[in-house]
Amino acid sequence: MKIPFVAAVFAVIAGLFLSGAPAQAATGPAQTQYPIRSKQLTQNKLYKSGPLETVSCPEPAIESSVSSAKSYVKTLFNCLGDAWSAQFDKAGLRFSKPSLRFFTSKKGLRYCGSKWGDAAGIYCPRTRQFAVLLDKEILTDVDDLFLMDVVAHEYGHHVQQMSGIMRAYEYEPYHGKKEETEQTKRLELQAECFAGVFIGSVWDSLDRSEDDWQRLLDVVAMSGDETTKVKDHGRGSTQKSWLNKGFQSAAPGGCNTWAAPASRVR
Ligand SMILES: [Zn+2]
Repeated sequence: MKIPFVAAVFAVIAGLFLSGAPAQAATGPAQTQYPIRSKQLTQNKLYKSGPLETVSCPEPAIESSVSSAKSYVKTLFNCLGDAWSAQFDKAGLRFSKPSLRFFTSKKGLRYCGSKWGDAAGIYCPRTRQFAVLLDKEILTDVDDLFLMDVVAHEYGHHVQQMSGIMRAYEYEPYHGKKEETEQTKRLELQAECFAGVFIGSVWDSLDRSEDDWQRLLDVVAMSGDETTKVKDHGRGSTQKSWLNKGFQSAAPGGCNTWAAPASRVR
């Protein structure tokens, strides 16, 4: 059984890390033990929609308080809605915006039918709502790009929902745990790549340096499956590589994790 929702497990940065491998274009036929059958996944219309229109999305100032973080997230959320709805129009796909809610503590928290767990954000496909956790841990370091990545990643799941990818993933057959986990990694890595696509498309309107981007890549590389109990989002180096691929391509066509060889979705 696939889980009913998919969480961004950007867990706390624990310690060790593999330095990330540079992003590589996935070319040639997929060499994978578990080929993906659904064309909805491997040849989705969204992949041919070209680069995201550049939208201007200046970041509001953010402080380590819940109210400030909320208004920061809301601003981003609106930019994401503008960027992706224009993209769906281009692709000839229907789009409606998700809703957003906040939590400030994960203690005893249940969302979308499950315990909250380690996630910083969770998208609930059933209600098309996503929730962002603004607890102490997240609020400690609000001036980096991490929160933006979390929000853009959850929005990436909504993009998957609206494009039929989420549903196709839920119905994609598998034989055993290993194959199911690989499919879940493809889904998660694609959401992370979509986050990179969005960040890439608004980059010029952000007052950010190359160092800020590198720092985000490092944080992502340090919060992979090596650091979490549930290992279905991919290694840190793999996540970093898809995030960067999305950023560099700034087009959803760069995020076809479903046709990538197994070595790119570990
Ligand atoms: Zn996710």
